[in-house]
Amino acid sequence: MSEVGESLNFIEHIVEEDLENGYSPSDLRFRFPPEPNGYLHIGHASSICLNFGLGLRYNAPVNLRFDDTNPIKEEQAYVDAIKKDVEWLGYNWDTERYASDYFQQLYDWAVMLIKEGKAYVDSQSSEQMAAQKGTPYEPGRNSPNRNRSVAENLELFKGMKDGNFEEGSHVLRAKIDMTAQNMLMRDPIMYRVLHKAHHRTNTDWCIYPMYDWTHGESDYIEQVSHSLCTLEFAMHRELYDWFLDQVVDSKKLRPKQREFARRNLSHTVVSKRKLLQLVEQHVVDGWDDPRMPTISGLRRRGYTPEAIRNFVDTIGIAKRENLIDVSLLEFHAREHLNKIALRVMGVLDPVKVVITNYPEGEEEWLETENNPEDESAGTRQIPFSREIFIERADFKEEANRKFFRLKLGGEVRLKSAYIIKAEGCTKDADGNIVEIQCVYDLKSKSGSGTEESMRKVKGTLHWVSIKHAIKAEVRLYDRLFSDESPDTHKDKDFMDFINPEALEVITGYLEPSLVSAKIGDRVQFQRLGYFCVDPDSSQENLVFNRTVGLRDTWAKIQDQ
Ligand code: ATP
Ligand code: MG
Repeated sequence: MSEVGESLNFIEHIVEEDLENGYSPSDLRFRFPPEPNGYLHIGHASSICLNFGLGLRYNAPVNLRFDDTNPIKEEQAYVDAIKKDVEWLGYNWDTERYASDYFQQLYDWAVMLIKEGKAYVDSQSSEQMAAQKGTPYEPGRNSPNRNRSVAENLELFKGMKDGNFEEGSHVLRAKIDMTAQNMLMRDPIMYRVLHKAHHRTNTDWCIYPMYDWTHGESDYIEQVSHSLCTLEFAMHRELYDWFLDQVVDSKKLRPKQREFARRNLSHTVVSKRKLLQLVEQHVVDGWDDPRMPTISGLRRRGYTPEAIRNFVDTIGIAKRENLIDVSLLEFHAREHLNKIALRVMGVLDPVKVVITNYPEGEEEWLETENNPEDESAGTRQIPFSREIFIERADFKEEANRKFFRLKLGGEVRLKSAYIIKAEGCTKDADGNIVEIQCVYDLKSKSGSGTEESMRKVKGTLHWVSIKHAIKAEVRLYDRLFSDESPDTHKDKDFMDFINPEALEVITGYLEPSLVSAKIGDRVQFQRLGYFCVDPDSSQENLVFNRTVGLRDTWAKIQDQ
């Protein structure tokens, strides 16, 4: 099936082998199985791209299956958010499924297992059961309830279902082997009593099936050929297979579980449970806060689906867990935004420049390219006048030869405008520079074709005309955690590593064309980075998020 010379990941190799050994292409079916107990994060993107990528490669259907067996933590709002994120990433599922669609079938199969003597109701406390479980080095002991009669088990199980018992009073267990090497095989729990309304089945059920019992059987019902999950489920595979053995009809396809490594990103946490903690404790402003590693946070931050997919593609699928540096994700954001983002000018830490030989009260509109990387993006006009802002860091009274920005007596080009020369500056009582006086070279106008317009000076600065500039709220983001792997320390909680400076809000002065920027628009503020318009933005108060700087400043800081 695969093209010669193409490199396949190990999961694709497994599929290829299956195709060689008798699977027909039409047997292939995949699923992405999120639990709707939180928003999707960048780790999930790996699983999404893997499963939907296989679907595209083999022209096979991929289901979106909500693993909704725990009503304590699950909600419709999470279902909606997950669907939105998968779509935004660019994938189409074949059918939308819910484990809860199979509650009746799972129940019927459980009854069948009881009748076959392969499941029993245990009425011990969870502490008692834990005490009998044994250790990896010692076998477990049988529950005193293990040999209950089929009739008694059926009656108790029905009672559980009908809501006659309190939570914790009984569980249904598979009768496998309390001495098994694999502790998961020591009579695992299949059902528990839970008097909680479910977001789909409401109060229809007073018992809920456990993950292991649900997952493989759901795969079987959907005829998923390859059920791909993360490595922590490797030990569960034996149980997955045991549960399938109980129900599989030899004429139907038998799903197989295969495992790949979970993806971890540096300076953040990729666990819905921990992300929920950040939301609930108001460390961040919701699941889609641009500091969050959620898909919705990245979207709001200005990431593109392409950037995320390219990142996932680059890190690939692995058999071992490791930590991926977030700077790689940022690299992919820059790479894609460089191609698509319009170049605009904004000054974030302004200092005033007066061009003393420019006539007072006059202004002109200069033509500038929208994106030098993309000619079809066209040009626009930007206003120039006697008073402009430049970045404070772009001026020094004195500096060495390596400082290519503005210094007294030195020249720079103002992007798409003129060459200016600094002649003096004024300071306040504290010695802060409040104004720089410059002269401009009238003939040096960019694009005017004169010899002076081609004149090369070392530095080019971005700027805005003060009287035309529009103010905007600019939100600058940094790593949410100061530690590379905040959740791997034995003696400390991940919350101890929150970076309090992960958000800085400033006022920026932007060229007037941005007045018509729409929520979600992405631009490059020249020399500063990529920014996008936040949903909080309004006509009265424009709000921009910094997606990523132009260079990897973090790596530089680390090297110092
Ligand atoms: P979390 O701990 O964040 O809740 P989870 O594995 O419990 O993660 P699920 O909603 O059950 O979350 O995950 C759906 C699918 O995504 C599963 O197949 C899971 O293995 C996969 N997945 C989750 N996290 C990652 C990750 N960090 N890297 C790769 N795949 C992941
Ligand atoms: Mg989970």
